[in-house]
Amino acid sequence: MTQMMECDERLNAIQDKIVKAAKLAQREAEDVRLMAISKTRSADEIRPLLDTGHRLYGENRVQEAATKWPALREEFSDVAVHLVGQLQSNKAEEAVQLFDAIHSLDRPSLVKALAKAMDKLNRRIPCFVQVNIGEESQKGGCAIDDVSGLLESARSAGIEVVGLMCVPPTGIHPAPYFALLAKLAKDNGLPELSMGMSGDFESAIKLGATYVRVGTALFGPRA
Ligand SMILES: *Cc1c(COP(=O)(O)O)cnc(C)c1O
Repeated sequence: MTQMMECDERLNAIQDKIVKAAKLAQREAEDVRLMAISKTRSADEIRPLLDTGHRLYGENRVQEAATKWPALREEFSDVAVHLVGQLQSNKAEEAVQLFDAIHSLDRPSLVKALAKAMDKLNRRIPCFVQVNIGEESQKGGCAIDDVSGLLESARSAGIEVVGLMCVPPTGIHPAPYFALLAKLAKDNGLPELSMGMSGDFESAIKLGATYVRVGTALFGPRA
């Protein structure tokens, strides 16, 4: 019970911040969806948040999600789980089966693998193109200059791309990167922006985020 109250309080505090940030930006709070990033959390840690009625979750590993969500979906059939971590082409089919959206489409080989998996399973899920917005060599995401080309090949493969996603470099103020991602989305006619995490979601909302991905601020520090 205590755990449930704490979880409830953290959720309410974040939702208040979302409402305030949206208001400051003269946006509707309903246009900002809170995705609870449940990576590394066990089903028992996630359940209290599910019990509050929260229904949108994000995971970063196919294998880990496969151990938790099929069972949780039996209890909470209206839940939505998105993949926010890098996806290997050989796991594309499993990912299409497990998730309701993929935020990490970042290369032509993955376009091919996902299109093939969607055709085979006859299941279409929306995707976000992940952009390596800080041009960091160690990070996933397609190069800024490759965004339009990747969108084009995704579309011709029959994949619905709804928006862009980024994880800005750590240790510097993220606002310029959020602004750049917003501009890229606008230039390409994409409505959704997946950006902002526990430390910077208010800044992301100010710059147009429609999905904020919050882990630690909801569940506490990861082990
Ligand atoms: C872990 C993770 C998050 C959440 O990070 P927090 O700082 O815990 O809020 C968001 N997006 C991605 C892609 C992640 O891997």
